[in-house]
Amino acid sequence: MENIVYLCILFQESIMIKTIIAGPCSVESREQLRQVTAALAAMPRVTLIRAGVWKPRTRPGGFEGLGEPALQWMQELAQEYGVQYCCEVAKPKHVELCQRHGITTVWIGARTTGNPFMVEELCSAFAGSEMQVLVKNPTSPDVSLWLGAIERVLQAGVKGVSAVHRGFAMYHNRGYRNEPLWEVPMTLRRELPEVPLLCDPSHIGGRRELVAPLVRTAVQFDYDGLMVEVHHAPESALTDAAQQLTPAAFADLLSQLSTSDSQHSTFNSHKLDSLRSQIDEIDHELLSLLARRMEMSRQISFIKHDLQMPVYQSGRWSDVVADRLQQATALGLDADFTRALLEKIHGESIRVQLADKA
Ligand code: PEP
Ligand code: MN
Repeated sequence: MENIVYLCILFQESIMIKTIIAGPCSVESREQLRQVTAALAAMPRVTLIRAGVWKPRTRPGGFEGLGEPALQWMQELAQEYGVQYCCEVAKPKHVELCQRHGITTVWIGARTTGNPFMVEELCSAFAGSEMQVLVKNPTSPDVSLWLGAIERVLQAGVKGVSAVHRGFAMYHNRGYRNEPLWEVPMTLRRELPEVPLLCDPSHIGGRRELVAPLVRTAVQFDYDGLMVEVHHAPESALTDAAQQLTPAAFADLLSQLSTSDSQHSTFNSHKLDSLRSQIDEIDHELLSLLARRMEMSRQISFIKHDLQMPVYQSGRWSDVVADRLQQATALGLDADFTRALLEKIHGESIRVQLADKA
């Protein structure tokens, strides 16, 4: 992970987060919405206020949102504070109610994105409207499901479509509420480069102390925007109390984000070009070496066949791994990275040797 972030710093042309969406997980009362709106309206970089009105609860019995009365307050407060709100929709009826209350940006939640039938139904409700739609990733790390939902919304004629990375539910997690698995949104971006990509560090982290470090990582992955949960009294929030930031903590976080494209000095631009061409050269050498290594494996497979030895030699392989790990440590390379790389190479070597047997 650290390695990936470091590489991204190196390849970064400029660092700037453009769209900033912030607000409470849920609307809990008119006064709660007013307080957080007043605080966020005073932050010029906040482009949109998020506030859930229908809450998809994993298990029954929790606070499920206030529905239409909350939309009414949003409409009034939008006028009073000159702000715009967005909220989650899961049914065509939600879309219709949002439109009726002047809410023109909505998001499709993680649990809905994973269900093509529900996405289709929402798309029929979006068709012909000027709505902006944010599509959160599905709960599983299935990039096709996420892509498919975005493609459906685009096909419905929606012009303003963005993707929101909110992390992935795992049976084992390593300290996050939802694992970030940064490679998944990066794959999505490669497939749909024109769709802005936002990061929701609140639902990834699940704890407020993880939000700032996740935002710093998102900046290095060149996200176009953020969606952050902010509540004036997070500890007493009815949903997601552990992950919401106070407006003061959020303002502090915003102040750490740069506001304009950074300028490279000429010296650093030259240095960057030179380092990149050295990396290009090293990659070409690595590939030539790998091709040579596979050729050795191919020749070895004929000898093994002749000597009636099985292709897979576990003793030899353990020796190779131990030797290479020792060398990697001396060179300052990460042991897990080295082990994973060796496994990949060995897997390919076995495949090559077996192919000659087939
Ligand atoms: C939310 O944004 O409050 C929410 C429920 O999000 P998700 O769909 O990412 O769980
Ligand atoms: Mn939430």
